[in-house]
Amino acid sequence: MKKTRVEGISCPKGCRELKYKSEMTRQSVVLLLIGVFCLLMSISFLSNDSVQEDSSLNKFEVALGLLGVSSVCIFIALRLEKLTRLKCEKCLGVMVESKQIDMLLKDNANYVREKLKNSVNNSEHDCPDCAEKMRKFDLRMSDPGVDLIAVIRPHKIKEIDGCFGCDLIWLDLGEEGLIQGWNVVQR
Ligand SMILES: [Zn+2]
Ligand SMILES: [Zn+2]
Repeated sequence: MKKTRVEGISCPKGCRELKYKSEMTRQSVVLLLIGVFCLLMSISFLSNDSVQEDSSLNKFEVALGLLGVSSVCIFIALRLEKLTRLKCEKCLGVMVESKQIDMLLKDNANYVREKLKNSVNNSEHDCPDCAEKMRKFDLRMSDPGVDLIAVIRPHKIKEIDGCFGCDLIWLDLGEEGLIQGWNVVQR
């Protein structure tokens, strides 16, 4: 079972206490955008008098349909689980905890955990949870959406710190790509 934290944890770099930040996952943002788009479409349909009355589709029916799609999208987007992470406001590093690792990395979560488990290199930072030295490992990543040129573009290799025992990873500023939907290249 996951233990509950009594007090806050501080930045491994010793800056200050980390603050919880919640944000929507990519799926939620996409759904929300679709929802808002449909809402706007339905409004523009209703307010547009130039739509021919003799067209096969009644504009109210179209608007109603769009409104339906819109509300479903927005409803789901707001119900989807938010991504919570601990962020240092000074160095902008981010601590990602157990459950969030799964949400972020999905199929790659266990690959990353395995890398962390097998790592023998000590990080410069202590784990803010158990105060042991964290371990570091290299992670090969590619930018999403550039799969076509990924062949000629070298993958970025980022050094990630983490604590296997506490099941958390620490991302420095610049490693945040990992939580912005970058693809982990398993190699
Ligand atoms: Zn910091
Ligand atoms: Zn730890």
